[in-house]
Amino acid sequence: MISHSPQSKAFATFPSPSLVRKETAMPQSGALTAESIPKDAEPLEATPEFLAELAEHSVRLESASPEEIIAWASQRYSPRLTMATAFGPEGCVILSMLAKVAPETYVFNLDTGYQFQQTLDLRDRIAEKYGIEVDMLQPELSVPEYEAAHGGPLYKTNPNQCCFDRKIKLLQRGVEGKHAWMSGIRRNQSADRAQAAIVGWDKKFRLVKISPLANWTKQDVWKRILDENVPYNPLHDQGYPSVGCWPCTRAVQEGETDDRAGRWSGTAKTECGLHSIEERDGSGI
Ligand code: SF4
Repeated sequence: MISHSPQSKAFATFPSPSLVRKETAMPQSGALTAESIPKDAEPLEATPEFLAELAEHSVRLESASPEEIIAWASQRYSPRLTMATAFGPEGCVILSMLAKVAPETYVFNLDTGYQFQQTLDLRDRIAEKYGIEVDMLQPELSVPEYEAAHGGPLYKTNPNQCCFDRKIKLLQRGVEGKHAWMSGIRRNQSADRAQAAIVGWDKKFRLVKISPLANWTKQDVWKRILDENVPYNPLHDQGYPSVGCWPCTRAVQEGETDDRAGRWSGTAKTECGLHSIEERDGSGI
């Protein structure tokens, strides 16, 4: 097994968080919930002027720390700012930053019904440490109901449909009434993600997409986790650099350098559709 939580590597220096509002994370009483954010907001219009403005912000924020990027996003879009997290290392790091910079942010998880127990447990560990209660959004049909309706597990025969029904639809629900969402994607995670902007336009969901860790490396992420004792999924110590639903995730083998090699292994599928870049227009994703 390969450990993916490097305990003893030399890591790059981390920029100081100049916009951090709180020194210590405490349980948050004023956190936004799905119900407290009105869903009747007019969606943003992706006019050429607006896209140009986003591109300008993105360029300017290239040299900002993730905390500064999050603070900017919160100041500009809260309460219509959200984040979906699968509790990966990057998501956990952003949650630790949100606790200091914008703890009121509404964060949700796509609780497909197929997540590992270790992932579900991590939700409680994050809540305990940071006071951030990630909202677990669940599909209308339970796993037994869904599998009965399709004559068996759809992840075996049509994983794209399964991801659409049990992830994308939840994401659409989670971002209802929002103008911007944050993601933990990094450019050097995969070829698919190499073009991610710090601030871009997500055509698929018609949202501003903010990726505070876009220019971080895996080493940067793990340095932060180890330095600040950020809770993380124990599966990362058991050969799983990327953790998704249990039927579609396996441990990676020695010699496999792609962190996502264990996701939908043996198929051409590499993304669930949340972060795929379907169209490029220079404004990001
Ligand atoms: S990752 Fe697998 S189990 Fe999870 S929603 Fe997609 S196809 Fe279904």
